[in-house]
Amino acid sequence: MNFWKEWADGCVEMIFPSRCSCCRLGLPRKGQVICSDCLSTIHYLQSPLCSCCGRGLPDSSGGDHLCGFCLRQPPVYARARAVVRYEEPVSHLLHLLKYAADSSTLPALAHVIEPFAYDLAQEFRPAVDRIIPVPLFPRRLKKRGLNQSLLLARIFFPQAGAALLVDAMIRTRDTPPQTTLDGAARRKNLRAAFAVRYPDAVYGRRIFLVDDVLTTGTTVSECAKTLLAAGAVEVYVVTVARVSEYD
Ligand SMILES: [Zn+2]
Ligand SMILES: [Zn+2]
Repeated sequence: MNFWKEWADGCVEMIFPSRCSCCRLGLPRKGQVICSDCLSTIHYLQSPLCSCCGRGLPDSSGGDHLCGFCLRQPPVYARARAVVRYEEPVSHLLHLLKYAADSSTLPALAHVIEPFAYDLAQEFRPAVDRIIPVPLFPRRLKKRGLNQSLLLARIFFPQAGAALLVDAMIRTRDTPPQTTLDGAARRKNLRAAFAVRYPDAVYGRRIFLVDDVLTTGTTVSECAKTLLAAGAVEVYVVTVARVSEYD
């Protein structure tokens, strides 16, 4: 039985060889999802980082410490962490997932995220008891076909079970994409754009908010404000990528 299954798998591999999710070149090993060349270009965010917002700090600055931005104006969330810089090839995978609803990118994203997810669980998990993905407006969700933040939350927290609150927070307005705006326009665009649907689910809880990319932090800050106003004790933020121009 196993022999025939392996033989059939071998035939499929010959006809449809696995390809790297990033560069589409053929992969030498079965089960591989990203080639070693693409993996070697991924820039993981590592210490020294800002101990609050998670931005990368110069190597010469010592260990993790608060960055100037957080010292001047502490964010509303307790801490934010991202896995990688928002650069190719991960930015390409996230773009395909978000704008082309291409869920075939998920195994590759999981490959990038999983080692980090373990560290994150060790560092934060005992303190955090609820996980909430940044919601999409229902019409946009219908058009897009998936909420990338929810799929990523499942990769970050595979054991979450009922602690993953899919619809406790909703988006009450269909706002233009933040990428088309900057600064004050971003904040204005998202003002009162979120609401907590089930306050009992977040009251007194420490929450992990999950999004795909952290750019200026406006989206996650608005979400955090909404959750704190509904009685959440603290909000932590985790994203796959962080835009490096804000480093
Ligand atoms: Zn590749
Ligand atoms: Zn900071």
